[in-house]
Amino acid sequence: MKAWNTVKITFPSKSVNEGFARSAVAALASQADPTLEQVADLKTAVSEAVTNAIVHGYPDVIGTVSLTASLLEGNVMRVVVADRGVGIPDVARAMEPLFTTGGPERAGLGFAVMESFMDTVKVRSAPGKGTRVTMTKRLGGR
Ligand code: ATP
Ligand code: MG
Repeated sequence: MKAWNTVKITFPSKSVNEGFARSAVAALASQADPTLEQVADLKTAVSEAVTNAIVHGYPDVIGTVSLTASLLEGNVMRVVVADRGVGIPDVARAMEPLFTTGGPERAGLGFAVMESFMDTVKVRSAPGKGTRVTMTKRLGGR
């Protein structure tokens, strides 16, 4: 689908940037006349994807995270969060609720949250190459 507006930001994988990424997506979404609930959903999903890139993608180093947010025809927002970190060996398994490699302080619910708050979530990943999460959500319709 064709994008009528796109914003791309790249930032180091530091947790302070998670809030920045979330707010940037919300600011772009505001151009598509979203409801407050839709904005809250988007921010939550972006937050989960970016946190995953920071925490799991680059466990021992500071790497680059890129976020591309686009407004598509039909008032659909697409968000792509990508890292060039460690990658995921088994994406289907990683997306199962409660699956985590993060130890006891992680719930293993990030992908489940993304799937419940967005209309579509797709994950492409390769070990050693990185991970790309593409999510869409239709906005507006009040
Ligand atoms: P929570 O999000 O509830 O704090 P979590 O991050 O472990 O816990 P998910 O977000 O659902 O749960 O992710 C599941 C698992 O997928 C992670 O534990 C990790 O193994 C893997 N994973 C997710 N995103 C990435 C990524 N960008 N790079 C490498 N591995 C990832
Ligand atoms: Mg997570």
